[in-house]
Amino acid sequence: MQLTSQTPLDVLRTVWGYDEFRGAQAEVIDHVVAGGDAIVLMPTGGGKSLCYQVPSLVREGTGVVVSPLIALMQDQVDALSALGVRAGFLNSTQDPTARRDTERAFLAGELDLLYLAPERLTAPDTLDLLDRGRVALFAIDEAHCVSQWGHDFRPDYLQLSLLHERWPDVPRIALTATATAATHAEIRQRLSLGDARDFVASFDRPNIRYRIVPKDNPRAQLLQLLRTEHAGDAGIVYCLTRASVEQTAEFLVGQGIAALPYHAGLDRAVRARNQARFLREDGVVMVATIAFGMGIDKPDVRFVAHLDLPKSVEGYYQETGRAGRDGLPSTAWLAYGLADVVQQRRLIDGSEGDAAHRRRLTQHLDAMLALCETADCRRVQLLSYFGQASEPCGNCDTCLAPPETWDGTVPAQKLLSTVVRLEQRGQRYGVGHVVDILRGKETERVRSLGHGELSTFGIGTDLSDVEWRGVVRQLLAAELLSVDTDGYGTLRLTEGSADVLRGEREVRLRREAPRTGRSRTRGGAAGGRAGGAGAPDLDDEAQAVFERLRAWRAGVAKEQGVPAYVVFHDATLRDVVTRRPADLDELAGIGGVGAAKLERYGAGLLAALEG
Ligand code: ADP
Ligand code: ZN
Repeated sequence: MQLTSQTPLDVLRTVWGYDEFRGAQAEVIDHVVAGGDAIVLMPTGGGKSLCYQVPSLVREGTGVVVSPLIALMQDQVDALSALGVRAGFLNSTQDPTARRDTERAFLAGELDLLYLAPERLTAPDTLDLLDRGRVALFAIDEAHCVSQWGHDFRPDYLQLSLLHERWPDVPRIALTATATAATHAEIRQRLSLGDARDFVASFDRPNIRYRIVPKDNPRAQLLQLLRTEHAGDAGIVYCLTRASVEQTAEFLVGQGIAALPYHAGLDRAVRARNQARFLREDGVVMVATIAFGMGIDKPDVRFVAHLDLPKSVEGYYQETGRAGRDGLPSTAWLAYGLADVVQQRRLIDGSEGDAAHRRRLTQHLDAMLALCETADCRRVQLLSYFGQASEPCGNCDTCLAPPETWDGTVPAQKLLSTVVRLEQRGQRYGVGHVVDILRGKETERVRSLGHGELSTFGIGTDLSDVEWRGVVRQLLAAELLSVDTDGYGTLRLTEGSADVLRGEREVRLRREAPRTGRSRTRGGAAGGRAGGAGAPDLDDEAQAVFERLRAWRAGVAKEQGVPAYVVFHDATLRDVVTRRPADLDELAGIGGVGAAKLERYGAGLLAALEG
């Protein structure tokens, strides 16, 4: 596309069919078009791609995009081609003919965008190739991969500082959705982006509703969520282990849900196939370990569910961030219980690395636990973790149904005194037995150990088992109690416990939600409807039309071998349903309908709308 005479806004309107830039996009784009370097921190779904794609079209030459996500390059190129943008990629999966074609197109100045894996970029023949063509800019996507302490470190990223040495006049833009200050500093330093301007967006994802529920019967809880709020929706279910991924996927399939497993232990071909189905088909649920997800830019992921506790708030934010990139209402749902805490502590104790490393892991876990147990707005807490202040959001579980808090000082004292007594006897017992003692249960073990004699035996009949476990969890999160990873999950006192026992510290606890199994927040501001698809405010008739358009889209996508969202996003179809364009002119006014798509799909879409 020859667009160098156009302004960025013209390009946005004609190519993408969007009316306005969002947030910092316009500023970033102007800065890069003018030749400046930039570091862009924006949440997932914030619109990072346009920040380098538009300048690549406006500036002379080809925008070279460095990305670690080889498996997704084909889809990225397809999506751009559907917009009429000339894009190609070079990576190790390609056959030699395709590679030569792409190289030729680049040298002939026929490419707007060229995607490269980092190891390919730093190979001598690629450097030579780039020297012979014309580069508009370098975009370094997923720039946090340069951070050695981060979870996604890629050694090849360290080589990328050579871009600056070799092409000092070509602007560089580094982008990531990882928000912590430490990562930010590392990107600047390791990529030699000393003079780059920073663009740090708000990390809020207002369309995501955060919900964290006590884990009870996780599969039944998950099924309930899927059936009542996300029927037919695409989503991701994260599990900690490969085994639980497979069991959960099998369970969902048994319940008639289109679920697929994904973890690093699966055959590469199976993984690729499952990922392709998730991206291409509507309504697939991917059950996965965290090996899945980076760079998945499927816009219509309606929910991300965690069946196990994430290791850190960063991880939680990254994973939940994959929901709702299209801006439509989406759910981030986490079920968490005591066993998660024990399991994570055990993983930390058994991890490689020195004491400092383990301490860091513990801090990460503690921050995650604090988020789980907070009685305040989840979003406020999440954003403050990233150093951003905000007001209670009205779209998380604690805002929608503020948990009651109660004075748990006396129960905490009862529990801690029981732990003291067992410690004094040198006995190691986990939560189950401690609760049995408090509730005065004459179990086999209580009898054989003579624990009926303990002065705390039976002093806690006022709370149920579930409530006691809630007390334990919250004391753990507040570090007023700790749990050994000795295999027994022995409860231990902490430094803070003494203050509680002496009555010098009040303990406020959140009341456990009643176990109705149903979400308490249905029907709220962005409440999902059964039938899902992120279209909560369509009436039945409109919903039927929307489904018809989706079916049409599925047919077109299949015919062309591209993911459905490459044809049109849900958000665009939804606008079509509510605005009912009568002709191509009116259709062109709808967000996401650019010139190329109008020509290619416009007539078909209007026909499908007619019914
Ligand atoms: P990121 O890479 O930051 O996660 P993307 O670049 O994939 O985000 O953009 C997220 C979604 O928002 C995409 O579906 C994209 O088409 C859409 N989008 C981006 N910028 C705009 C805009 N200015 N107007 C409308 N939609 C936009
Ligand atoms: Zn809130």
